[in-house]
Amino acid sequence: MIDVDEAQRIVLAQTRPLGTVQVSLEEALFRTLAAPIQCDLDDPPFDRAVMDGYAVRAADVAHVPVTLKVVGQVAAGAVADRPLAAGEAVQINTGAPIPRGADAVVRIEQTEPLPAEGQVLIKESVASGEFVTPRASYASAGKIVLQPGALLTPANIGVAATAGASRVTVYRQPKVAVLATGDELVDIDRVPSAAQIRNSNLYALRALIDSARCLAVVLPVARDDRNELRNRITSGLQCDVLCLTGGVSAGTLDLVPGVLQELGASFRIHKLAIKPGRPTIFATMPDGRLVFALPGNPVSTFVGFELLVRPALSALQGRREVSPLIRAVLNGPLAATANRRCYYPARASVNDSGEWEVCKLSWHGSGDSLGMATANALIMRPPGSNAVSTGDLVYMMLLDRT
Ligand code: AMP
Ligand code: MG
Repeated sequence: MIDVDEAQRIVLAQTRPLGTVQVSLEEALFRTLAAPIQCDLDDPPFDRAVMDGYAVRAADVAHVPVTLKVVGQVAAGAVADRPLAAGEAVQINTGAPIPRGADAVVRIEQTEPLPAEGQVLIKESVASGEFVTPRASYASAGKIVLQPGALLTPANIGVAATAGASRVTVYRQPKVAVLATGDELVDIDRVPSAAQIRNSNLYALRALIDSARCLAVVLPVARDDRNELRNRITSGLQCDVLCLTGGVSAGTLDLVPGVLQELGASFRIHKLAIKPGRPTIFATMPDGRLVFALPGNPVSTFVGFELLVRPALSALQGRREVSPLIRAVLNGPLAATANRRCYYPARASVNDSGEWEVCKLSWHGSGDSLGMATANALIMRPPGSNAVSTGDLVYMMLLDRT
């Protein structure tokens, strides 16, 4: 049995980023950047007013109150028609370029216009540079503002837009084939007859794959039949990743390991030291494609996806990341653990003291998919842990993703 940390290292060691594509910035949300983005211009591109008021020479307002001659007005998007001379002021709006000759802005609240005289009374002194954002003070032209590997979050989309990157180079989205196996499975729009169940994992896996920004390719269910399974796996292997569920344990009809072996798979992980999910398989094909075969119990499938498949899908898109474990205050009791790492569906929240608090949800083991309802975290307990109760610190992994 391989422990989870080692298993994640094994998966990442077999995973290289796929090729790259260019997309428009509108299509780039949550894609991963594959080429740097640099500013084409200084940011800001000119010395800029931070406040509405009057552009002045700081030296002219060293002693206040003082009146200055108003020689014009400059709005955002406009340029002053002439430089400012001693004793002059220009009415200015936030975002407008500072006229040449001026070096500071007096806020409008600290002024009193004297329109009859064509003057303004300045009531507050300002230092040179006050309420001015100097050109290039955020970044100079040519500066790399986003490096390859950056996730294009909404904030980063804004950064790319500022830099004028209307098209961006990102990693290609992995195609992930989803194959559910088992004679008992029927589609979700059917009422299962005696001994049948709905193929819920297919939908859960597809949603997980979508949430990892990959393209799910759904295959028809494979019955517990060697030939059918071989055909389905073979067609799934046209994708970058094949993700199977069911048929991986030790039963007489758990045919997945044997068929993968026949097709030349190298098993990198065959048993994981976790509960739920021990029979999890990770294999690579001779051409380097990745195969994950997860146990069919819905919570095992889910946990296996989060621990192994999701990090692989991120790495294929150029991001090597594994969900961190977070310390949280436990609410409720947890039993001692044996020789495997245990994961429990859980609900995490921030308590009144601003700390993470986590509570195990009521569930009845790995077959109980309803036990995942409202889960936004998994509690993780190392092997050989003692029983713990309310107030003790435990580890958890957050699941919520946009
Ligand atoms: P297996 O891994 O094939 O031994 O299946 C373990 C358990 O998970 C059995 O109770 C199966 O009926 C159930 N199961 C297998 N595949 C699915 C699926 N696609 N959706 C929901 N439950 C499943
Ligand atoms: Mg089965």
